[in-house]
Amino acid sequence: MKIRILGAGLAGCEAAVQLARRGHSVELIEMRPVKTTPAHQTSNLAELVCSNSFRSSAITNAVGLLKHEMALLGSMVVARGTEARVPAGDAFAVDRERFSALVTRTIESEPNIVVRREEATALDRGDADFLVVATGPLTSQPLFDAINAFLGHDGLYFYDAIAPIVAADSLDMSKLYWKSRYGKGSGTDYLNAAMSREQYEAFVGALLGAELYPLHDFEKAVHFEGCLPVEEIASRGVDTLRFGPMKPVGLEHPVTGERPWAVIQLRKEDLSDEYFNLVGFQTKMKVGEQKRVIQLIPGLENCTFARFGSMHRNTFINGPRHLRATFQAKKDDRIFFAGQVTGVEGYVESAAVGLLVARYIDEIAREGAAHALPYHTALGALGRHVSESSPDRYQPSNVTWALIEDVVGRVKKTEKRERQVEAALRALH
Ligand SMILES: Cc1cc2nc3c(=O)[nH]c(=O)nc-3n(C[C@H](O)[C@H](O)[C@H](O)COP(=O)(O)OP(=O)(O)OC[C@H]3O[C@@H](n4cnc5c(N)ncnc54)[C@H](O)[C@@H]3O)c2cc1C
Repeated sequence: MKIRILGAGLAGCEAAVQLARRGHSVELIEMRPVKTTPAHQTSNLAELVCSNSFRSSAITNAVGLLKHEMALLGSMVVARGTEARVPAGDAFAVDRERFSALVTRTIESEPNIVVRREEATALDRGDADFLVVATGPLTSQPLFDAINAFLGHDGLYFYDAIAPIVAADSLDMSKLYWKSRYGKGSGTDYLNAAMSREQYEAFVGALLGAELYPLHDFEKAVHFEGCLPVEEIASRGVDTLRFGPMKPVGLEHPVTGERPWAVIQLRKEDLSDEYFNLVGFQTKMKVGEQKRVIQLIPGLENCTFARFGSMHRNTFINGPRHLRATFQAKKDDRIFFAGQVTGVEGYVESAAVGLLVARYIDEIAREGAAHALPYHTALGALGRHVSESSPDRYQPSNVTWALIEDVVGRVKKTEKRERQVEAALRALH
């Protein structure tokens, strides 16, 4: 088979090598250095644009499990990362120049891969059997427009707005109550954290004092769009949050009937009952500050975080609306999307999707159909997130235990993770 891949980042390079090693012919189109992105600085393939970390290497951590699964399936990114690894405790950190130089050399020495340095401006398969779009969070504008037109101008976004997720078993349920606004819905969709006036004012003060991640120049436009970070709303006046995401109307206490001064709602995560999302709490606060501020919320004093909030410039597709669990476009089975553009987040997750897409294309070539990996593996969970999250609330996500299907049930948390890891690895052998 012949496969054209657009974008030679983490996902595009992983997909290219996997396909080439299975005997397919790959054309890899990368626009740098002819045209660059606002974040990349070199012409190397698979450049790491910010941190040099592939995060935790502990196998009971979701991203640790993901890397382990990728290594089992022969990931090139994990192999080159291991060669470029530098000491960083539990974290898997790499020498970024060495890493991308090693990947570039690997790609250039694969006889089945031809690299073309030019900007892709259309979803054009040419004479290839399949097209893989892996142009990442900073996809260039002409291609963004082409993807948008292909999707019918529906469900392609240019920034993310992510609210923190906390673990259900870390909440103090004696301080929280179940209720949907005006009693609509099932009654167990939302938990509510009520605040008195004093608690609210202290909370707003803490939000306003919190340290934020600086914005890159190319991210400044984000704030003019509809979805504001919570600290930005707070800065518009002490009561602004109370009339926005912390509105108490319709959320009177079910026993006392009293209306609190303000309420924070926690919504069950789409794919799991074990985690809650803080509704409307997208934020640019630094991670340590998020912890400090959010633990001021009554009932969340000891909460643990499955994911911290964030907001960045980010090109991504509404996966549940447009993609299958195999990352094929619903509109055209010969077009795959891979990497961050599918709504996964992070270097490792992006490379993982490249690996999956190559595997699925190869399965189609050999067997006529692709079979998505089981959702209780970290790899399969990425396809689950992309295809089965709620399309109305879809936001990019790192791999977390909240995404990985629970096939173990109720046991102690430490034992549970070990058993989940065993089940995932068994499925891949
Ligand atoms: C500013 C910034 C900081 C980040 N920091 C981190 C971090 O610290 N840790 C982390 O895990 N993740 C981080 N991310 C997310 C990170 O980008 C992704 O995790 C990862 O690089 C995405 O992999 P990818 O293969 O999908 O895209 P990329 O690695 O970005 O690769 C896409 C490639 O496509 C090329 N391209 C774009 N448009 C075209 C076109 N029209 N034609 C041809 N080529 C094109 C680009 O030049 C690029 O080489 C950051 C993202 C940004 C934007």
